[in-house]
Amino acid sequence: MPELPEVEALADHLRRHATGCTIGRIDVAALSVLKTFDPPPTALHGQQVTGAHRWGKYLGLQVGELSLIAHLSRAGWLRWSDQLAAAPLRPGKGPIALRVHLGVPGQAPGFDLTEAGTQKRLAVWLVDDPVKVPGIATLGPDALAINADALAGLLAGNTGRIKTVLTDQKVIAGIGNAYSDEILHTARLSPFATAGKLSTAQLTALHDAMHTVLTDAVTRSVGQQAATLKGEKRSGLRVHARTGLPCPVCADTVREISFADKSFQYCPTCQTGGKVLADRRMSRLLK
Ligand SMILES: [Zn+2]
Repeated sequence: MPELPEVEALADHLRRHATGCTIGRIDVAALSVLKTFDPPPTALHGQQVTGAHRWGKYLGLQVGELSLIAHLSRAGWLRWSDQLAAAPLRPGKGPIALRVHLGVPGQAPGFDLTEAGTQKRLAVWLVDDPVKVPGIATLGPDALAINADALAGLLAGNTGRIKTVLTDQKVIAGIGNAYSDEILHTARLSPFATAGKLSTAQLTALHDAMHTVLTDAVTRSVGQQAATLKGEKRSGLRVHARTGLPCPVCADTVREISFADKSFQYCPTCQTGGKVLADRRMSRLLK
């Protein structure tokens, strides 16, 4: 799932390549992705793109007073093309959900919002105010805009596990499963630590890790995506999706905790004092 760094890279690409273009046409191939009906997408035809934004993991194209906002969810992506084909999309065929022609169709660049797989969760809104998107209205402060004191305040009294709290968009916006694994590994914190019980030193380490991991990832993503924009590619991950591989810091084996629909990774030596955490899936089998 694209998180803050990848969405920031997409916004950066749109800012540099779409701003100033006039929208020629919007093709909707999957009606179910559209969560708003008034104004209709045709309201953007002939209008000039004035910028691009990111709110947490939401991506927005600014067109005058209107914002075309997308949440890419698990398998969604933005695919840029220097010259999009003019032929209309065939509804319900292929991964393309929505196509934006940035000029005369067939003679201009543009982009597709795509979604792989069978779980259709990609969502698009066209609104005159971004807070009309329910998920944006309830976002916590952006992960890159939080200072150490603010982070302490956000976590104070929270009895949840830090892994869960870091990925709760209502508490902190922008962090998902991959970067929370990386941040906790860098901060040397157990994913199961109680958020509201971190020591001052742990809070400082967490804040430093959050800033470093996300800033580095934004830099890498912006460089990569600007060149390709072909799909979500991550590099530089130390524990996430590296189950069974050696931790690059201490060489211990990276372990995994699995849930019904997702899993996350950590290093026992770096994060849990060498303790291997109970895997819920395993515990259920043993019951
Ligand atoms: Zn380690």
